[in-house]
Amino acid sequence: QNASSTPRPVDEATLLASLPSGLFVGGEWRDASGGATFDVADPATGRTIATIADASPDDGITALDAAVDAAAEWAATAPRVRAEILRRAFDMLQERKLEIATLMTLEMGKPFAESLGEVAYGGEFLRWFSEEAVRITGRYGVNPEGTGRTIVSQHPVGPCYLITPWNFPLAMATRKIAPALAAGCTVVVKPAELTPLTTLFFAQLLTDAGLPAGVLNVVTTTHSGPVSKPIISDPRLRKLSFTGSTAVGKKLIAQAAENVLRTSMELGGNAPFVIFDDADLDKAVDGAMLAKFRNIGQACTAANRFIVQRGIADEFARRVTERVEQLRVGRGTDEGVTIGPLINESAVEKARTLTDDAVTRGAQVLTGGSAIDGDGTFFAPTVITEVPTGSDILREEIFGPVLAIIPFDDEEDAVRLANDTEYGLVAYVFTENLARGQRMIERLDTGMMGLNVGVVSNASAPFGGVKQSGIGREGGLEGIHEYLSTKYTMTPNP
Ligand code: NAD
Repeated sequence: QNASSTPRPVDEATLLASLPSGLFVGGEWRDASGGATFDVADPATGRTIATIADASPDDGITALDAAVDAAAEWAATAPRVRAEILRRAFDMLQERKLEIATLMTLEMGKPFAESLGEVAYGGEFLRWFSEEAVRITGRYGVNPEGTGRTIVSQHPVGPCYLITPWNFPLAMATRKIAPALAAGCTVVVKPAELTPLTTLFFAQLLTDAGLPAGVLNVVTTTHSGPVSKPIISDPRLRKLSFTGSTAVGKKLIAQAAENVLRTSMELGGNAPFVIFDDADLDKAVDGAMLAKFRNIGQACTAANRFIVQRGIADEFARRVTERVEQLRVGRGTDEGVTIGPLINESAVEKARTLTDDAVTRGAQVLTGGSAIDGDGTFFAPTVITEVPTGSDILREEIFGPVLAIIPFDDEEDAVRLANDTEYGLVAYVFTENLARGQRMIERLDTGMMGLNVGVVSNASAPFGGVKQSGIGREGGLEGIHEYLSTKYTMTPNP
């Protein structure tokens, strides 16, 4: 691609000036009660880029009121009409991709090209679920005794509360909003306080695409706990869908238990990236760069532990280090930058602490290894090898650009190391041996697997984990069922 055809960010000042700054409730932008606001910062500079409404618990309930009021009419809206609104939103998102990608880079920090990638991925949920909206079907059958007929039907669960994290500001929202709306549910969305602007932009876009008032409501707040608890405890709420840390997920499951509220939980990960000595090493290095450094390592699907067969461990380490040294760190809106800042100072601190712990225990640093001084919250892309068992970095999500290598001896060893975690979101396996790949599908305890690929996310596939990585699936044929309830009706023979 030549320079003139490379998409570039739009003008920041114009974009930021055009954004809504309020809560979105019942189809209207409004201030928080009492007029409270908070600032949103660009992590690459630390500079405030917007000041927006800071909702109180009362504001949260007002948003739920709006979702409850709109529920019956939206549930009764023809599936084709719901589908067309989602499809129009998909088209509008493509038209406005430079704006929304610029906004994501500004508030979250990822390189602009990756923000465009997220618009493509996140947007796909709108198209996929616009197609799924018209395929919600039931069944009709004779019971085994021949004494009656059974009708099985699907119904929208009702008003939903959707809580999203900061790392994929658009995709984590569309992955929940699109299936909920397709199923006929109304929603209250609470984006992460670090990256709320993308959701505000998207709410306006959905409205412009024809979404009726009250079907989607947005509360932005720095008081996530106090605002969420009354919503979750309200018996009018029928579903909670959360993406974020396992620690917060556990708290919310406990709160949801009070009313036996249906929940979907997309929680943390600790993905193993297993490379056997029969792997195509070029593919493995390419896959490793994607699985580790995409989103500056801040993905629940990020490869956390590179479990590499001993005979090729040095060669892999050498080749991947060479690639890591070519990464360009900087502000995500600058041309050519491939690694942006981490989201905040505590993320830098975490990457530092985990790296230092491994090094103290005997790991070797091949490149990077420390934070970068100056404005913004940057950590140098890092490779460490010979990471000793017992290191904290093998147990905790790094959520930063640190690639940690652990050598292994044989297949048994690899399976044991890969499964040695309380998480089970995704595993990556590189091998050219088909039977071995199939054995790994059966033996690795995860919800998803990348076999000779470094990225698994796709709107047509059921995303989700086992163990402490969560409950439920987003995307695929499964995704819409998170927002539907099944009813059967027994009838006599006609
Ligand atoms: P987080 O748990 O701190 O926050 C997630 C969301 O929950 C935010 O909107 C936050 O404001 C809100 N929140 C925090 N405390 C709350 C409370 N007491 N009640 C209600 N809401 C509350 O997580 P994060 O730091 O924003 O995101 C990073 C985490 O998300 C990582 O662990 C990552 O693995 C996980 N994640 C998982 C997936 C997945 O699909 N499995 C995808 C992306 C991120």
